[in-house]
Amino acid sequence: MKRTKIVDAVKGGELIGQDVCVKGWVRTRRGNKHVQFVALNDGSTIKNLQIVFDLNRFSEEELKAITTGSSLCVYGKMVESMGRGQVCEVQADKFEIYGIADPAEYPLQKKGHTLEFLREIAHLRPRTNTFGAILRVRSVLAYAIHKFFNEKGFFYLNTPLITASDCEGAGAMFQVTTLPLENLPCTEEGKVDYSKDFFGKTTALTVSGQLEGELGATALGAIYTFGPTFRAENSNTPRHLAEFWMIEPEMAFYDITDNMDLAEEFIKYCISFALENARDDIEFLQEMYDKELISRLEFVIHNDFVRLPYTEGVKILMESGHKFEFPVYWGCDLSSEHERFLVEEHFKRPVILTDYPKEIKAFYMKQNEDGKTVRAMDVLFPKIGEIIGGSEREADYNKLLTRIEELGIPMKDMWWYLDTRKFGTVPHSGFGLGFERLVLFVTGMANIRDVIPFPRFPGNCEF
Ligand code: ATP
Ligand code: MN
Repeated sequence: MKRTKIVDAVKGGELIGQDVCVKGWVRTRRGNKHVQFVALNDGSTIKNLQIVFDLNRFSEEELKAITTGSSLCVYGKMVESMGRGQVCEVQADKFEIYGIADPAEYPLQKKGHTLEFLREIAHLRPRTNTFGAILRVRSVLAYAIHKFFNEKGFFYLNTPLITASDCEGAGAMFQVTTLPLENLPCTEEGKVDYSKDFFGKTTALTVSGQLEGELGATALGAIYTFGPTFRAENSNTPRHLAEFWMIEPEMAFYDITDNMDLAEEFIKYCISFALENARDDIEFLQEMYDKELISRLEFVIHNDFVRLPYTEGVKILMESGHKFEFPVYWGCDLSSEHERFLVEEHFKRPVILTDYPKEIKAFYMKQNEDGKTVRAMDVLFPKIGEIIGGSEREADYNKLLTRIEELGIPMKDMWWYLDTRKFGTVPHSGFGLGFERLVLFVTGMANIRDVIPFPRFPGNCEF
């Protein structure tokens, strides 16, 4: 008999009165001398399917091994449920235990573990209701992202994970080498001889696919990347990971306003899609962790984001009278306390901050006529701070070259990038969305380490 997934089984419907086969892991077993109830979950939904074992049919001895965490295959009849909390249940005729889970050893035997404890058993935490819900929301969001860009005619471009340019400038990099670290080959001047390394030069894991994304955009018109990025920054914050996923659309013929419009539409689309397609999971997370979750998500979908120049934002912060941990002044790099003040206290809605001082932004951003600011745009969100960073790109060859020289970026790294401005340059724009920050926002979780299946952060790289 074909197996029915629990996501379909719990609906009952046409299955009522039919024989079914279901498989999954036991969440709980309870009952009395006459009947035992097993809550079975197969990961396809937050909901459990109730299996009823009649003790006229099965002995207590037979059922003993059905403990929390054990895995089962059950054959039985789907019937309407008399009990509260479920539409239907399966009256077991026959079952097989695939694998036991010794209650004395199984770490998830009891409910109600803290998120901190679960982080220590990251290999098993996907089996909890919380992480099941988070991982399903994450998967639904990933699908929404591909769907959004496909519907808009963007092409999915895969940019390299191993890069030879160390000037992406977005963060500290992890070096990639096959040189023997205990016995490094040296040049005559006593430096490491990287010509002997795997690629014949120094290489590292990418911190962003943007520069290569621009090569795609100036050929295909509009592309997006969606892949892993790596930053060796030693920031132990609830918003940073050493390995995270980033979505980077890059569009020819878009100015900064087109870019902001796209970013706002994109993020609203993803949130709506998750609310429609992962409703049960989001409701569960709301119930457990964040009572305002759904109203916050709906608020973001239904309200325009504020658009404001950095200079105005800094003025608001300076005049607020609020005491910040880090001082605010024109030219400062805003930290998340500043960003969140603007969003949560002042405007009470998402804010897109534009036209940042050029000193605190990357070399490739389009320079404004004032000579001081660049056409950057950061999207700031409640509870998160920066969720998107982007800009219109400098399309003028000479201006870009001058900036590269001012910053002392080696030309050996940049010639290929400059070629986009040398041959058929066009106005263009793009941005980067940190996938885990989006998942954080949509799940209402507080720590980014809880929204990626296998988190990597300083001092932690399990399996
Ligand atoms: P922040 O100031 O928050 O450290 P950033 O300005 O360094 O971020 P960008 O280089 O603009 O980040 O990267 C684009 C997006 O990638 C950010 O808006 C954010 O959503 C995400 N991001 C950046 N660094 C990390 C990280 N270490 N872990 C998870 N997401 C990140
Ligand atoms: Mn940024």
